Amino acid sequence: SREIRLVHRPDALAQPDDFALVEVHLDELQRGQVLVRNDWMSVDPAMRGRMRDAASYVPPFPLGAAMDAPAVGTVVASRSDTVAEGQVVLHSRGFRDHAVLGEDEVRVIDASLADPEHHLGVLGLTGLTAYVGLTRIARVADGETVFISGAAGAVGVTAARVARHLGASTVIGSAGGPEKVARLTGDLGYDAGFDYRAGPVRRSLKAAAPEGIDVYFDNVGGEHLEAALSSLHVGGRVAMCGAISQYNAERPQPGPTNLSLIVTKRLTMRGFIVLDHYDLFAEWIELASGWLRDGSLPAPMTVVDGLENAPDALLGLFEGRNVGKMLVRLSDP
Ligand code: NDP
Repeated sequence: SREIRLVHRPDALAQPDDFALVEVHLDELQRGQVLVRNDWMSVDPAMRGRMRDAASYVPPFPLGAAMDAPAVGTVVASRSDTVAEGQVVLHSRGFRDHAVLGEDEVRVIDASLADPEHHLGVLGLTGLTAYVGLTRIARVADGETVFISGAAGAVGVTAARVARHLGASTVIGSAGGPEKVARLTGDLGYDAGFDYRAGPVRRSLKAAAPEGIDVYFDNVGGEHLEAALSSLHVGGRVAMCGAISQYNAERPQPGPTNLSLIVTKRLTMRGFIVLDHYDLFAEWIELASGWLRDGSLPAPMTVVDGLENAPDALLGLFEGRNVGKMLVRLSDP
């Protein structure tokens, strides 16, 4: 079997040779263990943070060892009484062709809900992130105008659908490049969109939302956050979800120059980590699987084939090579 290891910690932009593809021998199954052939794995922007040797809400990837990632796969051998051969399971040992796991380290997927790979996207933590951010954190209400950055990405696309569900009257998104912006107001359901690379974000946001915004769902940070502060109404809220524009920065970046607007406009900015909000998971899965069935939840995916290309898929997130969820297909079941 093969696995991807982190072999070097990048200072700035991560590079292909920070990773190595290594052939490994799998251990014999012990009682209570299963052997899983990984079919799909997720790559996520937060993995860039785990390549640094710094304490955070998840520990850094160890050097010289296989990386981990959310994955779904098929049980091909089992010494467990609770998980059977042939079952499809969700677990956290992606970045490898096969994984030996304890029965309590896998969750059997409800295959009736949707294709298994959706459990790495809309029916997984990605979808839950959008839901938590707009319900519990930003508390979007009827008739509000919501602005979402990273709008064509996995969390962004789902957030647009959630905003609509919560009664937002106008949903505005920003993304990189004209093709993505065309999709925002096309199949992705936004009312307006702009290309953040085409000019100053502050000006583009003012043009897209001349009346201002009530809520900002921040996936990007930096210049986007500064622009949103300037467009927010009095009493506006910001769900601080991510700051991908800064994940590859060599050192911490200066914050927005207009933070005093938080005072004068009585804004609320609140950060969150989805892992603290598992209590909303069942509610979200029920809602999202219903939307998948009735066709009202866009769930685009960008699929990269082969474990050997998983590092490239991860790096691709920072170049905007995806629309919707970026996934790696590890085998074709
Ligand atoms: P995406 O699918 O959105 O992929 C990343 C996207 O970010 C790219 O497609 C690219 O789109 C955009 N991007 C990359 N570099 C920049 C840049 N310099 N400036 C602006 N945009 C950039 O990933 P996810 O949906 O998985 O994650 C979105 C955000 O949510 C990230 O910040 C992530 O860290 C955060 N997150 C937070 C969680 C939490 O618990 N708080 C949980 C999950 C995700 P484009 O072409 O438009 O530039």
